Amino acid sequence: MSRLATTGEVLQLIRSGEAVTRAELGRVTGLSRPAVAHRVAELLQRGLIVEDAEGPSTGGRPPVRLRFNAAGGVVLVASLGAGRTQIAICDLAGEPLARTDLEIDVEEGPDVVLPLVMDTWEKLLDGRGGVVGVGLGVPATVEFAAGRTESARVMASWTGVVIPPIIASRFPVPVLVDNDVNVIAMGEHRMAYASELDDLLFVKVSTRIGAGVISGGDILRGALGAAGEIGHIPVRDGGGVLCRCGNLDCVDSVASGTAILRELRDKGRDVSSLADVTALVRAGDAETMAVVRQAGRRLGEVIATAVNLLNPAVVVLGGDVAEMFQPLVSGVREIVYRRSTQLATRSLRIEGSRLGPGAGITGCALMVIDRVLSPEAIDGTRAP
Ligand SMILES: [Zn+2]
Repeated sequence: MSRLATTGEVLQLIRSGEAVTRAELGRVTGLSRPAVAHRVAELLQRGLIVEDAEGPSTGGRPPVRLRFNAAGGVVLVASLGAGRTQIAICDLAGEPLARTDLEIDVEEGPDVVLPLVMDTWEKLLDGRGGVVGVGLGVPATVEFAAGRTESARVMASWTGVVIPPIIASRFPVPVLVDNDVNVIAMGEHRMAYASELDDLLFVKVSTRIGAGVISGGDILRGALGAAGEIGHIPVRDGGGVLCRCGNLDCVDSVASGTAILRELRDKGRDVSSLADVTALVRAGDAETMAVVRQAGRRLGEVIATAVNLLNPAVVVLGGDVAEMFQPLVSGVREIVYRRSTQLATRSLRIEGSRLGPGAGITGCALMVIDRVLSPEAIDGTRAP
């Protein structure tokens, strides 16, 4: 390092495992022994690291190992879904300490939903202190920097709502809000793929379709936060379905869980939920498999374009419809390998979610932890 490493940077080295003793910190940073001691003392005093006496013995006195203290704080997280909201409190490693699911209709609006979420955090905290940040994933386009939801059609009562000040009035800590799919993509990448690859496209297929893009290891949000909003890209052979946005054959209207249900009902099948469809797929029902596979082909058209543009190493399919993975992914693969460039698909993998429904909670926690433990936040050189 060309300039002196800060306390925040020393914490980063300990968290990542790059340097875990005072001697290693000195070697990696070039700091003098007193300077290392000073920074380590500050981190110990703030409860962000702890000393582990049991280093590997080298015959003499074992060096004291320094370990990031995941118990040094708590983050409050909530992943708001159309029908179900997951709420949790996590430690500083993103591990849930307590969690619960709530059946809330997000359409009831922020005045109803946010107080309910905050009450639930209070209950889960059960008197515990040390809250360092809050993270929310919401099923809407979010202007990330402002924490403002921008999605007139989906969550009408949330349009233009700036969430952070509402939460901060009760929990005066940094509050981060992002689109639910971005958060899930981040959780999936960091917990299941980070050691293998840096470029991942996560596509969530539930009642709606959305995508989260991990590029070079980081979430790609775009200028205002609308990157990955693929639901209203039209497909070529959708059959002329009018989408709720007013356009024809948006992928949302011809390949989502809602669309699959509608098509099966049109064929006279008695299905009331995606769980019914999943059961039929598992039972090998030919007509249902054909409908799901066709949805996969339509989804594949949009994914093929995204693959050409982004060249991900893996496309991960998640959401409720991913339960019907086999016929869906067959349809997606068929089109993606036909329509994407050879270079982009040479080693492309298309897989089901490894993390499943917990990815939203994990992603929310990581979003907050990355921010509050960043060197800038630790050193106080930028407001967290
Ligand atoms: Zn549309």
